[in-house]
Amino acid sequence: MIEIFKRYGIDLTEDQEQMLEEYYRLLVSYNEKVNLTAVTDRDDVIKTHFLDSALILSSDISLSLSSEKIRVLDVGTGAGFPGLVLAILRSEWDIVLLDSLRKRVDFLNDVVSKLNLNNAVCIHGRAEELARDADYREGFDLVVSRAVAELRLLLELCIPFVNSDGRFVSYKGPKYHDEIASATNALAELNCAEPKVMSMSVFDKERFLVEVCRDGDLPEKYPRRAGIPAKRPL
Ligand code: SAM
Repeated sequence: MIEIFKRYGIDLTEDQEQMLEEYYRLLVSYNEKVNLTAVTDRDDVIKTHFLDSALILSSDISLSLSSEKIRVLDVGTGAGFPGLVLAILRSEWDIVLLDSLRKRVDFLNDVVSKLNLNNAVCIHGRAEELARDADYREGFDLVVSRAVAELRLLLELCIPFVNSDGRFVSYKGPKYHDEIASATNALAELNCAEPKVMSMSVFDKERFLVEVCRDGDLPEKYPRRAGIPAKRPL
């Protein structure tokens, strides 16, 4: 695993490699009872989930992030992608893993406890509700999300958590440009600047990190009530 990560400019220690191996074992074992991932082959999990989650660390985004303690939120983390992988690779970051499915959060809590990850906290809840909590609203330097929803919907779920100097980074596939085009209104409504896009080839796939920052105040009315952003996207 160390060699594969190195090819993408990510240095993995032996401890981190062992933690990822244990995470893989727990993932496939839980996956027999709880639907966590369609990908279970070890090499495929390493490429599709672990390396993909870590891509932000090999990008310009990582260079512009302070290496010191930052507060990070993963919205709709599922089985922990990308947030749990980032918690393993960046012990100095404080990471909150949010998901609305209780069984997935139970799995995450088990992994966090078995790996002794004291920089990760798992929360069962919906982004629309947590964003109304003063401890979380505009409380993060970095908000990430992968495979949760199209960009215009994600913006309403994720931007309310970003602090005034922070950024939201969405992991996307090749159709990212259509999603950016459909998000014009959401970007304007949420006072966001034009997205920046970074592209990377991971084995046979093109991956894109879409970075969005605010350039004005966060409007009080967002996010709307749970379920409304998906029903009536901005
Ligand atoms: N991010 C993971 C990945 O890349 O494998 C999981 C992707 S899974 C397709 C989407 C996850 O988002 C699900 O686990 C779902 O429960 C969660 N989710 C969807 N809407 C959400 C919301 N409004 N608040 C919190 N979690 C949500």
